Amino acid sequence: MVGLPASDENWRAQCQVQFGMPPKTDLRRLAQHNGAVVGVIPVNRMTRLIQDLPGQPHIRELADIGADGRGAVWYEFRGSSQQGRRPRVWLKVQALLTLTCQRCLSDMLFLVNETVQFELFADENTANAVEAVDEGDPDAPEPLVADGPVDLVQMVEDQLILAVPYVPKHHACEPAKTSAGEPVEEVKRESPFKVLEGLKRGSK
Ligand SMILES: [Zn+2]
Repeated sequence: MVGLPASDENWRAQCQVQFGMPPKTDLRRLAQHNGAVVGVIPVNRMTRLIQDLPGQPHIRELADIGADGRGAVWYEFRGSSQQGRRPRVWLKVQALLTLTCQRCLSDMLFLVNETVQFELFADENTANAVEAVDEGDPDAPEPLVADGPVDLVQMVEDQLILAVPYVPKHHACEPAKTSAGEPVEEVKRESPFKVLEGLKRGSK
């Protein structure tokens, strides 16, 4: 069964101090202070992400978040600055998204649980130069040009879009079932012509 990791329950509870859209944030300043920004955003506010997905549960306030957590996106930005290296920011994102299985075309739950590390640059040229050196190193942080306040929601949404599989599929698709959970059974019905014949005979 796909679900949010129980081991991160406390982490998600801490994120829930801030609900809704966070203000734009200067990530370089966040890194300088070794600060953090945490929060929860309704997935339906991420229009680029949901445009090709089936309907996600509507969350208008914290109390709307159900036991399985669908419809909510938890995030944490954590800055770090150390002597002798560029400022960095870690981003952790968790969400349980509803996707459409491309084999049976029914809904499937998909867990996004990502942590990315960004190295901050003041300008594009330095970022490109360092990216060229780091190319091929899977542990190298992502270069990010941060020369002012950035939209945190956009960054969270980008990570979700990258995490969603291009062709989502269940590991094993379920056979079709009725709403009561019974396997679909064909009901034998009398041919309408036979019924009509019976009526004719009866009327004579
Ligand atoms: Zn399926």
